[in-house]
Amino acid sequence: MSKKRSKRSIQTRCTQLEREGKVLTAAFLRTALTPESPDPAVVPLLGRAVRKAKQVWRRAYAPFSRFPVGAAVIGGSGKIWAGCNVECSSHSLTLCAERNALTTAVASGEREIVATVVYTEQGLTPPCGACRQMLYDFGPDSVVIVTDGRQQQWFLLEDLLPVAFTAALLRSTTGAKSTKGR
Ligand SMILES: [Zn+2]
Repeated sequence: MSKKRSKRSIQTRCTQLEREGKVLTAAFLRTALTPESPDPAVVPLLGRAVRKAKQVWRRAYAPFSRFPVGAAVIGGSGKIWAGCNVECSSHSLTLCAERNALTTAVASGEREIVATVVYTEQGLTPPCGACRQMLYDFGPDSVVIVTDGRQQQWFLLEDLLPVAFTAALLRSTTGAKSTKGR
């Protein structure tokens, strides 16, 4: 993640884009969303994402684990989509909040995500392995923010999923005779 742009230039650009009614680009958001010190220009956007994640957290269907989770993904367009976990009596069919938020974003036309907020009130909870992989497919250099409403922890997705499986690997195996391990 590049941190070369100055705070001032990011803020000016953000204000300018909002004034012009233009969407924030993914590249711009990625630069502004630095884990150590997110640019003040994107703080309102993050605040909205956390509120949305909390909103859907209240609607989580988790009668078996009693571990409700809400998630919100921020797309490259600057739009936010939310999802909650939905459990099933056949437990392995349970759907995670992060993937529900992601698939809603994709169904809405988003193809790139820049951040994922995970909201729980039972401790700071990072995404599971399956969610990390799916988020990676749509935002390899995105950030993951876990929060319980009081504290926040920031991660780079690439740190949560080092040596990730990618579509490029899939292409490189096209034509391979063995499908072992896939
Ligand atoms: Zn998950």
